[in-house]
Amino acid sequence: MNLHEYQGKKILEEHGVRIQRGVVLDNIDEIDKFTEELVEKTGTSWFVVKAQIHAGGRGKGGGVKLAKNMDELKEVASDILGMHLITPQTSKQGKFVSKILIAEDVYYPGEFDTEEFYVSILLNRKTGNNMIMYSTEGGMDIETVAENTPELIFYEDIDPSLGIQSFQARKVAFNLGLSGEAFKEMVKFITLLYKSYVTSDSSLFEINPVLKTSDNKIMAVDAKVSLDDNALFRHKDYLSWRDLKEENPVETEAREVGLNYVDLEGNVGCMVNGAGLAMATMDLIKQSGGEPANFLDVGGTADAKRVETAFRLILRDPNVKAILVNIFGGIVRCDRVAQGIVDAYNNMGDISVPIIVRLQGTNAEIAKEIIDNCDFKVYSATEFQEAADKIQEVLT
Ligand code: GDP
Ligand code: MN
Repeated sequence: MNLHEYQGKKILEEHGVRIQRGVVLDNIDEIDKFTEELVEKTGTSWFVVKAQIHAGGRGKGGGVKLAKNMDELKEVASDILGMHLITPQTSKQGKFVSKILIAEDVYYPGEFDTEEFYVSILLNRKTGNNMIMYSTEGGMDIETVAENTPELIFYEDIDPSLGIQSFQARKVAFNLGLSGEAFKEMVKFITLLYKSYVTSDSSLFEINPVLKTSDNKIMAVDAKVSLDDNALFRHKDYLSWRDLKEENPVETEAREVGLNYVDLEGNVGCMVNGAGLAMATMDLIKQSGGEPANFLDVGGTADAKRVETAFRLILRDPNVKAILVNIFGGIVRCDRVAQGIVDAYNNMGDISVPIIVRLQGTNAEIAKEIIDNCDFKVYSATEFQEAADKIQEVLT
């Protein structure tokens, strides 16, 4: 589950990490009240308005703007609130901005130069450890830095059973070229950031930029956070933070009925039981020249009701031109699944795309007979490859 910047910053603040402070609003009428609160808390009179959407690169798309007084603030805020923000990470239509964060401008002039860094904490899947990834090239697109100047990105693996060691936090501050007060501030920042990541069961905490202010403070200006869905049961307070407007509606609906569905770009809908078989099926579709339109694991009980729900979800995607059903009847009997498919087809009445069905396992022969004897555009296949080939055939 992905979070908005303001939610990520809230977790940071709760763990003592210094952040660029702000207030969130979804209604421009509340701007005076909220801004007053912010000014009281921070003493600022310069602001930055930031669109809250689940996509990065907001600055580039005009979703982050500065304001030096109340009039400018109101103007900028009403521009951004309600806009369709297009960034390098959104679709061409952009994303509707229904919330803005009004924050203190923290790039104020002072004794020292401001500096921007990149810091993220994530899982290193190769080593099974947590990892701090950091760079002096803050505020830039990190993928570009990785491509053009990979030597400017540093990595520090952290053994999760030991946690972050103080020498590791010092190494980060040193490699970022800091000294004196800023060095100490960075050590504290990294240590508390790691704590935030672990305690919230996150899979990603990306802070870009981390700012060294002109008075040598280190703070989080942005926050991109992904929480681990499998750990959400122990973070009930975060559950209410889910912003369904930012998520794929079909994926949301699937989750609500207990189906494991991931939307993809292709044109072959897949209905499979078991995540492993689902992935193998997607591979095979690709190898046979097609593109899967989705990942869908229907789980153990593939009865008529569930099959129908799955078909309805798959067919919500207008790109789907054919469906491949690949089910292994271990606990569930193949003939019941076949009957389920026929019943679902009957019930829905308006399925216009061909369906290739491969059922293997208990009562597979009876299942094949049921499929072969129905009058719909439903065709049986016995072998895995045969199923993929048939899909290609009906598509061409
Ligand atoms: P992103 O574009 O979605 O990554 O949004 P960020 O929150 O990272 O903001 C984009 C850029 O705006 C940052 O890299 C900063 O350079 C700039 N920015 C953010 N907050 C402030 C601020 O308070 N003052 C100034 N002058 N610039 C800011
Ligand atoms: Mn950013």
